[in-house]
Amino acid sequence: MERRQIPPTGREHEQLLAEMAHFAEGDADFRGGRTWSMVYWAGDDHHEVCERAHNLYMAKNALNPMAFKSLKRMEHEVVQMTASMLNGPETAVGTMTSGGTESLLLAVKTYRDRAKKKRPWILRPNMVVPETIHVAFDKAAHYFGVRKKVAPVDADGRVDVAAMRRLIDRNTIFLAASAPQYPHGTVDPIPEIGALAQAEKLPFHVDACFGGFMQPWLERLGVPMPTWDFRVPGVTSISADVHKYGYAPKGASVIVYRDMSYLRHQFFVETAWSGGIYISPSLPGTRPGGSIAAAWASLNAMGQDGYLRLAQAAWDAAEALRTGIADIPGLRVLGRPESTIVSFGSDDPAVDLFAVADQLAARGWAVDRQQKPASIHCSVNANNAPVVPTYLEDLRAAVAHVRAHPELAKAGEAAVYGLMAKVPVKGLVAREVLKVLEGMYGPDGGEVDLERAGEDGLVNKIVERYGDRVFGALDRLGKVRARIQRTLPFI
Ligand SMILES: *Cc1c(COP(=O)(O)O)cnc(C)c1O
Repeated sequence: MERRQIPPTGREHEQLLAEMAHFAEGDADFRGGRTWSMVYWAGDDHHEVCERAHNLYMAKNALNPMAFKSLKRMEHEVVQMTASMLNGPETAVGTMTSGGTESLLLAVKTYRDRAKKKRPWILRPNMVVPETIHVAFDKAAHYFGVRKKVAPVDADGRVDVAAMRRLIDRNTIFLAASAPQYPHGTVDPIPEIGALAQAEKLPFHVDACFGGFMQPWLERLGVPMPTWDFRVPGVTSISADVHKYGYAPKGASVIVYRDMSYLRHQFFVETAWSGGIYISPSLPGTRPGGSIAAAWASLNAMGQDGYLRLAQAAWDAAEALRTGIADIPGLRVLGRPESTIVSFGSDDPAVDLFAVADQLAARGWAVDRQQKPASIHCSVNANNAPVVPTYLEDLRAAVAHVRAHPELAKAGEAAVYGLMAKVPVKGLVAREVLKVLEGMYGPDGGEVDLERAGEDGLVNKIVERYGDRVFGALDRLGKVRARIQRTLPFI
C-alpha cells in the first residue's frame, strides 16, 4: 500500500465529507440499539444541540483559564451541577477531564502527591481497591508507581470490606471502590468503606464514572441501593462521566473533591520553563473547548426531568432484560439489580457462555464478553428498550443452539476466549497482545496481517505450548488456529 500524504492541494469539502460518511458504513449500529455499550444515545434532537454547542467553542482552548473566561465559567458550572447532584458539600470543587480514565488517573496522582507531602517517608505507596475496580486503576498504578492491592468480592460482586481492612498497611495512601462496578453493575458497600477510611485516616475515591449520571435518578425512582455519594462521611472524591449517562459527546468527565485541600494536589505548576510560568489543572496541556461547551449544553438541555425520564426508560429496559434472562434455563443474571448494567453467565456446563456469545454476534448483536466468570455485559440505555424482546428471543435461540451443538464451545471466538482463560502464563498472552497493538499502530497502520503475524505470534506460541492441554486432540488445532487468527484484534 502506498503511504498516505497530505493531498498536494486541498480537497473539495462536500466530496470529502461524503467520503467520510462512507467510512462509517461498517460501524456498529448504535441508533438502532443493537450495541449494549460504547454509545450513550439520547436521540437526534439532543445530539443536535450538543453538536451546535460543540461547534460554537470548537476553536477555543481551556489550557489557560484566563484567556477564555467562557470556558472557565462553563467548566465551573458543569463541576458544580455535578457536585450538587452528588450531594457534595458547599466546599466541593473539581475539574472537567477528557474522560473516566483521566479522572481516575488524576485521583491516583492527587492522592500520591498528597501522601508525598503529608507522609514523605512512604517510598512504595499502595492503594487498596476491589478486584472489580475499573482497569484504569491498573493503568494509573503503572503510570504513577502506586501499587494496587486488591480485595476479593462476594458472589454478587460486592467487595469484602474486612479484606480491605486487612490489606491496609503503613504504605497505603488511599482507598477506592465503585458505584457501580462495570463487570456486574453492583454498587460496593460505600458506607462501610467510608467508615474504614475515616478510621484509618485515608482518603476514599468512589468511581462513579459509569453511574454518576444515572444512580442519582434511579435512587429518586425508588431503586434500592446503598448510599454512595458525598452523603457518606469519609468519601473524599467522586468521578462521574458526562460522556456516559450525562449524554454529552465523548471527551467529558468530572472529578469532584470534598474540598480544595485535596484538589490542590491535582494541579501542576512550573515556574522555571523558558516558555513562562505554566499552570495546568489536569493531565493534558491544550484542552478542547468544544467538549466543555457540549457537556454544559447537555446538562442544561436535558434537565432533571429529562434525566429522570431517560433513567426510567433505561431502568425498565434493564429490568425486562433481567427478568427475560432469568427465565432462560442455563443462564444466570450476575450481580445485584442496582444499576442499568445487566450481566449474565451460565449455570449449566452444557451451555458454554462464549459459544452463546458467538451465536448472538452471528445474529448481528455487538457482544461484550467478560471473564472471571465467563459472562456477557450489557450497559442498558433508553434506546435499547425497543430491541429487548428481539434480543431475548435471539438469546433463547442461541442457548438452544449451543445445547444442541456442544462442539461450538471449541470453535469460533469461544475457542479464543476459552483458551485465553485457561492459558497458565498470562505474561505470554500480554506480550503477544502487545505485538498485535504494535502491528496496528505500525507505519502501515490499521490492518494486521494475521497470517504473517501468526508465524511467531500469539496464536502459534499459545497453541503449541498449551493447546494440547486445553483441547486434547491436536488435530483440531489447525482449525482453532485459523479461527483465533481471524478474531485476534478483538482480544
Ligand atoms: C467507563 C468507565 C471508566 C472509564 O471511563 P472512560 O471514559 O472509558 O475512560 C471507569 N470506571 C467505570 C466504572 C466505567 O464504567
